[in-house]
Amino acid sequence: MEAGTVFPQPPESEAKRAPEDNGGNKGVDGDTVRNPFARLVSHLRASWLSGKTRPMEYRVAQLEALERFLDDKKQQIMDATASDLGKAPFETELSEILVCKNELHETLNNLSHWMKDEKVDRILAMQLDSAFIRKDPYGVVLIIAPWNYPIQLFLVPLIGAIAAGNCVIVKPSEVSKKTERLVAEALPSYLDKHCFAVVTGGVQETTRLLENKFDYIFFTGSPPVGRIVMTAAAKHLTPVTLELGGKNPCYVSDTCDVTNVARRVAWGRFFNAGQTCIAPDYLLCTLEMQEKLLPALQKAINDFYGPNPRESPDFGRIVSDKQFQRLRALLGSGRVAIGGQTDEAERYIAPTVLADVLPSDPVMQEEIFGPILPIIIITNVDEAIDFINSWERPLAVYAFSSDDKVVNRILERTSSGGFCGNDTLMHVTLPSLPFGGIGNSGLGTHHGKFSFDTFSHLRGCLKRGMGRESLNAPRYPPYSQRKFGLIQATLKVAHKSDCTLL
Ligand code: NAD
Repeated sequence: MEAGTVFPQPPESEAKRAPEDNGGNKGVDGDTVRNPFARLVSHLRASWLSGKTRPMEYRVAQLEALERFLDDKKQQIMDATASDLGKAPFETELSEILVCKNELHETLNNLSHWMKDEKVDRILAMQLDSAFIRKDPYGVVLIIAPWNYPIQLFLVPLIGAIAAGNCVIVKPSEVSKKTERLVAEALPSYLDKHCFAVVTGGVQETTRLLENKFDYIFFTGSPPVGRIVMTAAAKHLTPVTLELGGKNPCYVSDTCDVTNVARRVAWGRFFNAGQTCIAPDYLLCTLEMQEKLLPALQKAINDFYGPNPRESPDFGRIVSDKQFQRLRALLGSGRVAIGGQTDEAERYIAPTVLADVLPSDPVMQEEIFGPILPIIIITNVDEAIDFINSWERPLAVYAFSSDDKVVNRILERTSSGGFCGNDTLMHVTLPSLPFGGIGNSGLGTHHGKFSFDTFSHLRGCLKRGMGRESLNAPRYPPYSQRKFGLIQATLKVAHKSDCTLL
């Protein structure tokens, strides 16, 4: 499949437009004709301006079409993700299909409520007026997705963008090749082709795409590319959501059920062969706890994947040779206590635990994003907190302890996009929780109502009557102290403690 291809192709009539008639889409340096995607963006903006995406019935029809896409293409999705990532059918059904369906149902169940204008309090001068917040769509949205959950990570934001009434271009990752092809070829036939499109390609094509003026950009990927996207967005003052990555710490206190901790940590680390943005990236515990955890982790890995995980149908593969080489080089950090086997031809890396790792080791210098779990030794909870706070703020912090006070202490004294006590990953499955990063791990949130809000501009609206002009007289020149007194009486917001009614 040729990179930079648009699915579906915009109609011929758009090609005949004069360069100045570009639907408000001026590329960098005013170059509108030469940007390969300018015509597409113009076409979507014209559709958005026509108002067709605004009615609730339209949004519902497009969301229902997304559900049909998931149902009709379920087997192809399973095959494509198995080919790209060796993903087990169970993991695909859970993380690519069920998560998207939950998001769709949550949105369909609540959309009419979310879309309603919100009435707001009015001051004395506006008691006869109507004041409300309108949830306005932004316009034309660009969604850029990564490869690790190649369906979920474009579809969940797409649900929010459609629910909020936008037109959308989706740019899936070129790394998860089979899924990219499936999405590009199959998705457009389910959606209104005048409002939604898929663009394929890598760095070169995405760079050209980003030259266009979008009304919102939703990016999921690595922090360095997040900076590139935000810089491109800044040229047009386009607002962004950045869902990024980083190293998620996992503190294990001395008082805990070691078997349960090991199973929950191993599941979170080795799901999707560790290629999960919220996976626990490293463990922080005392030396005594490390010695208890190692056999428990070994047992959990054995229970999950058998004595040879390479033969397990439930353990995935690394997405590309480049990622495989990067990960293999990290195995030299600390001491390999569990796993460590690799097979380049299969891009297989065994579920691996590295003991006695130092903060200066290579495995601690970057987000691991693979099936490798280092353990860093600390002496107590305060040292763990200081350690966490000395790094960039992560997407998730995990804390395990049978003592709720210890879990709360980690929650209160650290900062991260999200938090999960006594488990891993599960907080992301709740559509009622916002999902997003902070600092280096991202900007903005999505999931459920938070997605709808992300893709909606909160338009503050006041509607007044044409008459009653005498009520406006005090605000017009010539000004006087008396007029100001009247204005103050009707416009002032009283501080509650000023109230002397009782
Ligand atoms: P990436 O940043 O390399 O690529 C993401 C997207 O950006 C892809 O579609 C890619 O084509 C595009 N891209 C890459 N380089 C670009 C450039 N120079 N200019 C413009 N576009 C470019 O990320 P990845 O390797 O696909 O995914 C892994 C990263 O994503 C990890 O850091 C992971 O933590 C993060 N991630 C975050 C979340 C989240 O929800 N916060 C979810 C999944 C993955």
